Amino acid sequence: MTIHKSFMTVLALVFALASASLSAQETYTLRLAETWGPNSPILGEATRHMASMAEKMSGGRLQFRIDSSNKHKAPFGIFDMVKAGQYDMGHTASYYYKGSIPNAMYFTTVPFGMIAPEQYAWFYYGGGMELMEKVYRPHGLLSFPGGNTGNQMGGWFREEIKSVEDLQGLKMRTPGFAGEVMSEVGVAVTNIPPGELYSSLERGTIDALEWVGPALDFQMGFHQIAKYYYSGWQEPGAEVQFLINQKTWDKLPAELQEILRVSMRTAAYDMYIQSMHESGVAWDRMKEDYPDVTHKTFPPEVIEALRDATEKLLAEEAEKDELAREIITSQRDYLKQVRQWTNISDKAYLNSVSGE
Ligand code: CA
Repeated sequence: MTIHKSFMTVLALVFALASASLSAQETYTLRLAETWGPNSPILGEATRHMASMAEKMSGGRLQFRIDSSNKHKAPFGIFDMVKAGQYDMGHTASYYYKGSIPNAMYFTTVPFGMIAPEQYAWFYYGGGMELMEKVYRPHGLLSFPGGNTGNQMGGWFREEIKSVEDLQGLKMRTPGFAGEVMSEVGVAVTNIPPGELYSSLERGTIDALEWVGPALDFQMGFHQIAKYYYSGWQEPGAEVQFLINQKTWDKLPAELQEILRVSMRTAAYDMYIQSMHESGVAWDRMKEDYPDVTHKTFPPEVIEALRDATEKLLAEEAEKDELAREIITSQRDYLKQVRQWTNISDKAYLNSVSGE
């Protein structure tokens, strides 16, 4: 009896050890769809960087199969494909999906909103992650910050913008909430996939466009067609995102979830500083090689009109939907507080050393 009992105990122990070691060896291949084209610089590098870190840190237990837009043919369909389980993960921008999930747009950037460090502080310490979860969980999705472009430029314009009148009927590519704001002040707004931007501007399908900033704009060649390069107001710190299907996430052992989480956060941070670096290099070269390129800031009356339109539309969104109101209020309150610090630190520093 005793012998039999201890034999059973040993057997149970062996079984437990075997299954633990099996699960420790199990590998998970995650299919990831990105909005970007193959070998996309910076944006696509963030995806590949995340995958490579997670593979290494997990000793190969996490594997990724990344499909770029040439493969899945749906650059703005990432949300739907990850939701449907067609892909486990996505790398895209939340505001591309304002049509199907309006409250998603606040997690990329908001016109006249927070700059990147302020927004990261809001995400991780100011309640942003919790609000993003509230928006995505009902869709069976998790969303994580996936890299920041830094402050985006207001775009490339063929003609100088001297007044609000100059915006009337102007055909411009601007996605997200900023597009709605521009519509409000009279711009004919359109969103065009990245691959068609140059030809659209060249053919005159559009008169102006905004993409990102020197880091990504330079290689697109827009400066060869439109010479006025305006500083921005619309995307003070655009964050792209990693999307994960909740079922995929739940299947992963806790340690792999943590490896994935850390890889996404590190890749996001790296994209932010890489954007800073590449923009510095690209702007320096652009000024040197294309002296016709003219930097501009929008006149105060234009900025004022855009700000009024932003406030009006945000108020309308807050009125329509309770969760929208919660997000808008959270962002506004957070900005109000953190900006006081930005003003006496970075802003005051830059003002006092201006000319460098
Ligand atoms: Ca942009």
